[in-house]
Amino acid sequence: MIIAGKVTPEDLPKICPLVSRKTNGRYGESLTRVVEVGDVRFGAERPVVIAGPCAVESREQTLEIARAVKHSGADMLRGGAYKPRTSPHDFQGLGLEGLKILREASEETGLPVVTEVMDVRLVEQVAQYADMIQVGSRNMQNYPLLVEVGRLGKPVLLKRGMAASLCEWLGAAEYIANEGNLEIVLCERGIKSHSSSEYSRYSLDLNVIPAVKAESFLPVIVDPSHATGVSAMVEGASRAAIEFGSHGLIIEVASDRLDAAKPQCDAAQAITPRALRRIIRFIDARQPQVAEKQYAA
Ligand code: PEP
Ligand code: MN
Repeated sequence: MIIAGKVTPEDLPKICPLVSRKTNGRYGESLTRVVEVGDVRFGAERPVVIAGPCAVESREQTLEIARAVKHSGADMLRGGAYKPRTSPHDFQGLGLEGLKILREASEETGLPVVTEVMDVRLVEQVAQYADMIQVGSRNMQNYPLLVEVGRLGKPVLLKRGMAASLCEWLGAAEYIANEGNLEIVLCERGIKSHSSSEYSRYSLDLNVIPAVKAESFLPVIVDPSHATGVSAMVEGASRAAIEFGSHGLIIEVASDRLDAAKPQCDAAQAITPRALRRIIRFIDARQPQVAEKQYAA
């Protein structure tokens, strides 16, 4: 029986010839394309750590966390100015004001910043303030958005749809690549499974990391914060991701000051700057198990 729309990794050279290893011979069987965001190199020798608040909630909150994650050793700053929320009645982000705050925090700390764009109409606005553009899980298959983001030519962080197969994820990357932009970093952020939301927010699919590496040369990082939804699980998930060969991590951090306001968004999964420091120490101390050859673009 032939099932309409059924795809397997054997179909990848047809679905995504630009990002598939089999069709883009430049990267051979194991080379990773290095994606640069300022001085930060995804897919190079050392895993990259992106950290910051879930949402930009105020100038003070963002500057405080940006300084703290810099102090802990993070390479890049994250923070949402436009937030995808389940309810339209929840905090939606500060929008343009949030982008300006992120830019200020980036300039003060020297950390390049990644932030999400959800709306095709706002792609240019977000690109003015961000060093890297995030396409979130809910928009991984928003094809017009992928095309617009691809046209910008800026590095893109493409999160995996929460129910996306590997083929669908790489197909989404192909939309960006098809506009002439191969500056793409993939991000596994947890998938829906029979047990997701029973004891964690999603199920962290670490197995996809070696699978991505086998099928594509694009760097792949892990988001342990949204994958677990539980701050106590974030350190273990981070270490496991690195052991599985992740090229980096993107982690949500909140202030640990006793009088700090509780984050309006994803408070239960935020870790402290001190916990972030422990994760970065783990990365620093770890000898690469497998020396991956590098290939600069
Ligand atoms: C985020 O990183 O802010 C986010 C909303 O993540 P995701 O799209 O993976 O849910
Ligand atoms: Mn979040």
